[in-house]
Amino acid sequence: MTAMAAILDRITAAMAREIDRGRVADYIPELSKVDPRHFGIAVATADGRVISAGEAARPFSIQSVSKVFTLSLALECLGEACWQRVGREPSGDPFNSIVQLESDNGIPRNPLINAGAIVVSDILLAGRGPDDAVAAILAFMRRITEDDSIEIDSAVASSERKTGFRNRALAHFMRAAGTVTHDPEQTLAVYFRQCAIAMTCEQLALAGRIFAFAGRIGPTGETIITPARARRVNSLMLTCGHYDGSGQFAFDVGLPGKSGVGGGILAIAPGKASIAVWSPGLNTVGNSQLGTMALEMLARETGWSVFGEG
Ligand code: GLU
Repeated sequence: MTAMAAILDRITAAMAREIDRGRVADYIPELSKVDPRHFGIAVATADGRVISAGEAARPFSIQSVSKVFTLSLALECLGEACWQRVGREPSGDPFNSIVQLESDNGIPRNPLINAGAIVVSDILLAGRGPDDAVAAILAFMRRITEDDSIEIDSAVASSERKTGFRNRALAHFMRAAGTVTHDPEQTLAVYFRQCAIAMTCEQLALAGRIFAFAGRIGPTGETIITPARARRVNSLMLTCGHYDGSGQFAFDVGLPGKSGVGGGILAIAPGKASIAVWSPGLNTVGNSQLGTMALEMLARETGWSVFGEG
């Protein structure tokens, strides 16, 4: 057994002993059906391997982890002009907060909160309909994982479409402010489906390689995004990837990371590895409770924190 496999087995065994696993998100009814006992972890390393433990081959709803991939695509489509419609500062507010938008003239603080990600979906809608924009997102996910089996969970997508009233409020407010430029329902038709992409930890770790290896699918693989873009998405993940828990995540784990309310977290050790973890129970700020603990353990055992060892 390799050293990494032994670390992942230790982490998985430690997480199995945890009694308080957080609370599964229930504001999207379909997500509330997921059993909180699931746990999986996968690491895609610089030597091209994927090492995993637990339920790393079971698909889950990636939800907001999708935001780092749609941002990468939008930057490829629109380049720096994206930053006229969305900022780059931590929000310090919950993921679906409405309160900042009015004082900030309808420009979301960053692309990793809901309002910012809805703007990114709107950018991806330019010149095409929602079905084509979603197809482009799915094609991108399949390309970077080299896996054509990735699909959208239509039950999760329609569950969110029926109940996504706060996201509707955000999108309509931004349409009034001009940050969203299409019919808000069309923009949300992209956003709800991108959030409902289902992936396994192994697939998500593979997808994150573009951020770990300067835009490439592995250290010597095909270049998908420029090194500068990969570096910038990493910086946004570090400062904004966990909503109003971003500071705590940097303090505990010390890696760029993006969480989703499905309980997944993608974490990046630049130049070393892309890591995906999944445990559906969330902490009070909506980030995977055991996922964060597992990553803290991994960062400590590997010395991968971007802030140093120890
Ligand atoms: N689809 C979810 C929402 O917009 C994503 C939130 C998250 O994963 O943090 O409410």
